[in-house]
Amino acid sequence: MKILIASRNRGKIRELDRLLSAYITGTKIELLSLDDVGFEGEIEENGTSFQENALIKARAGAEFSGLVTVADDSGLAVDALGGAPGIYSARYAGEGHDDEANNRLLLENLRGVADRSAAYVCAMACVFPDSSPLAGDPLVTVGTVKGEILCSPRGEGGFGYDPLFWFDPYGKTFAEIDQDEKNAVSHRGEAVKQLGILLSRRIDEAKEKLWRKYEI
Ligand code: IMP
Repeated sequence: MKILIASRNRGKIRELDRLLSAYITGTKIELLSLDDVGFEGEIEENGTSFQENALIKARAGAEFSGLVTVADDSGLAVDALGGAPGIYSARYAGEGHDDEANNRLLLENLRGVADRSAAYVCAMACVFPDSSPLAGDPLVTVGTVKGEILCSPRGEGGFGYDPLFWFDPYGKTFAEIDQDEKNAVSHRGEAVKQLGILLSRRIDEAKEKLWRKYEI
């Protein structure tokens, strides 16, 4: 079964492939990227929540390709900043700025703040075209992981805010752990796991319907 991932990030698609395949057994899945289906434009993420943005991207991909489409949206929510940078995490320091600039701004905005609790949040949406045997309501899942924002970066791995994201159960930042350790506890790992379970159930239900149709 072909599933479009509304992303151009090959690394993200490989990772999703590995994680989703673990939950969807009995059906072989093949994940395609926006480039694979010839989608050239940008999808405007103008939602007001992670869930809305994930749905917007998944709908756009499904409409263009006619394929079952999965999209995600994620970011960092800092309690003392009222949930910022939130859905603006990628462009916190402004359009075209890099992770380092975002991290610098975050530290500036948290200077002198004692409560440094934060959470990474990831929403995943799966949209089914009407023509799909799986057609029905979209599936939406959310995963979170709680941590603290340090006063200076630690570690070389990960990306984004990882060098500042202290995860107490490991006694390390997310930039000091490997990908498997991160997936086991991360917002993205949790959201994908929930989506994998729901998608697998949707596939089983569709198979059962087909089975009943031909049983008579
Ligand atoms: P995206 O929605 O996956 O593209 O992520 C949006 C932004 O949120 C990224 O550019 C990062 O700044 C931040 N972010 C999301 N997930 C993570 C993570 O696991 N580690 C570090 N930063 C993250």
